[in-house]
Amino acid sequence: MRARELLSRFEIDKLSRAVDREEWTMSPQSVNGYYSVSRNQVVLPAALLQPPYFQADADDAVNYGGLGFFIAHELTHAFDRAGSQYDGTGKRVEWMTPKDRAEFEQRAHALIAQYNRYELAPGDHLNGELTIGENIADTSGLAIAHDAYRMALGQRSAPVLDGFTGEQGFYLGFARTWASEPIRTQAAITQALADTHAPDRYRVLGAVENQDAFYRAFQVKEGDPMFLPSASRVRLW
Ligand SMILES: [Zn+2]
Repeated sequence: MRARELLSRFEIDKLSRAVDREEWTMSPQSVNGYYSVSRNQVVLPAALLQPPYFQADADDAVNYGGLGFFIAHELTHAFDRAGSQYDGTGKRVEWMTPKDRAEFEQRAHALIAQYNRYELAPGDHLNGELTIGENIADTSGLAIAHDAYRMALGQRSAPVLDGFTGEQGFYLGFARTWASEPIRTQAAITQALADTHAPDRYRVLGAVENQDAFYRAFQVKEGDPMFLPSASRVRLW
């Protein structure tokens, strides 16, 4: 109770102080990260710099699919449906042209429809509207991390590791960061009603199904379970 009182007083005291732009709202030992729209700031605690996100001696493909994706996801929050309504100093400003905003909304709606299609159990669909900010950050973050991986490779050809090409390793590295214990369907349905993040499984499926490079890497063809026609793949940024 005293700890809560102290923390509560600490927060209220901020009202009489200038904004501390160096303050972290996450501890260094948290395996997580965040983007703050009002500070236009990405924070990556030290504890994130370990497997499955990052390993100094691992191949670039795995590190870009893991930590690279994580960083690009946080950056993209500055340009998701909420973040895109703020400027670089954290002020709420409309900086897009009406034409660009309309196009952005149209693509966001396609992404909402994509996630609404995923079914946890017969009749229990994900809520694409609730999770749109995270789904934009996942879909665009994965595309940006892949671009960064290609840039890091430059003219070099990626090594084949354990029978997987560099391109495959990138997507496998990404998917591995979402490996988790299965949860009961009822718990997943409850979570889907309130959590702004899609369940882990759909954070993988939803993001990769929008990447042209993923189809090339694994030769995904029409009729395969993860196939989306090119015109249905969402590209936001
Ligand atoms: Zn996020």
